[in-house]
Amino acid sequence: MTDLSREGPVAFIGLGMMGRPMAARLAAAGFDVRGADPVPEAREALVDAGGRAFATAQEAAEGASVVITMLPDGKVVRDVLLGSGGAADVLAPGALVVDMSSSAPLDTRSLAADLAALGISMIDAPVSGGVRRVLDGTLTIMVGGEAEPIARAQPLLAAMGKAIIPTGPIGSGHAVKALNNYVSAAGLAAACEAVLIAEKFGVDPAVLVDVLNVSTGKNNSTEVKLKPFILSGTFASGFSMALMAKDLRTAADLARELGVGESGTTSAAELWAAASAALGKSADHTEIHRYLIRNDN
Ligand code: NAD
Repeated sequence: MTDLSREGPVAFIGLGMMGRPMAARLAAAGFDVRGADPVPEAREALVDAGGRAFATAQEAAEGASVVITMLPDGKVVRDVLLGSGGAADVLAPGALVVDMSSSAPLDTRSLAADLAALGISMIDAPVSGGVRRVLDGTLTIMVGGEAEPIARAQPLLAAMGKAIIPTGPIGSGHAVKALNNYVSAAGLAAACEAVLIAEKFGVDPAVLVDVLNVSTGKNNSTEVKLKPFILSGTFASGFSMALMAKDLRTAADLARELGVGESGTTSAAELWAAASAALGKSADHTEIHRYLIRNDN
C-alpha cells in the first residue's frame, strides 16, 4: 500500500497525451494531484479523473511538496520552473522536482544545479511505452539522480510504471531515454523501408511482418506499430513525429558532445527532422512510413 502520508499535494505539469493518463493514475492511486496545462480540455480530463486542475504551473505548485513535469522538452521544463512566474517561486526548500519529460541530459544537469541552489532537489525519470502502457500501468521509467530523492519518488513512480530502473547520476535517465528512442526510431525506419521494398517485389507487407515477428528481424516496431498503425493506415500511436525528431536531435547532440557514435545518430536526426518539417506539427511518428514513400517517388 502506498504511504501517502509522506507527501502533500503533488503538482503535475503538462497534461498532454502522456501526462493526462499519468496524472489520472496518480489520482486513482489516492494522491492529491494538482495538475496544470494551458489547454482547457486537458484540465477538464484531470478533474473528471479526480484531480484538481489549474491554468498555470505556479498555481498548481502552490503548497505542493513534489512537482512532476511531463512537458515537450527540457527548455519548457526550465521555463515552467524557473522562468518568470515559474513554479519554483512558490516551492519551499526541500521540495522535489521529478522531470518525466524526454529532456536533454546536459540541460538537466544544469537545471538540477540551479534548483539545488534554491534547496529544491531533482531527479529525471523519463518513460518508455507510450499511451497504451500508461493506461495499463506498465511504463518503463528510467531514473537518474541520488538515492534519497529516488526513494522518495518511488511510490509515485510505482503508480505509473512497472520497470523502474535507476540509471546513475542526474541526467542519466534522459541520456538513456534519448538513446532508447534512437534505437527505436532506427528500427522503425528500417522496418518501414523493408515493407516498401517487399511490396515493390510483390510480397504482401502483412506476410513480411509475420515473418519478421518470428525471425531475427523482430523489433518493437514490427511487433506493435507496423500492423496497428502503419499497414492499417491509422497512424494513431499517440507519439508525435516532432517529439521523436527532438529526441533524435538530443541523441545526436550527446554523441557529438562525447565524440562517439555520431554518424548513425546524426543521420537519424536528419531523416526525422526532414520528415517532421515535411509532414507538419500534427504528424504522428509512425507517419515516417508516408515520408519514406513520398521520398521514394
Ligand atoms: P503533448 O504535446 O501531448 O503534451 C505536452 C503538454 O504540455 C501539452 O498538453 C501542452 O499544452 C503542455 N504544456 C506546454 N507548455 C506548458 C506549460 N507552460 N505549462 C503547462 N503545460 C504546458 O506531449 P506528450 O506526447 O504527452 O509527451 C510529453 C513528453 O513525454 C515529451 O517530452 C515526450 O517526448 C515524452 N514522451 C512521449 C511519449 C508518447 O508516446 N507520447 C512516450 C514517451 C515519452
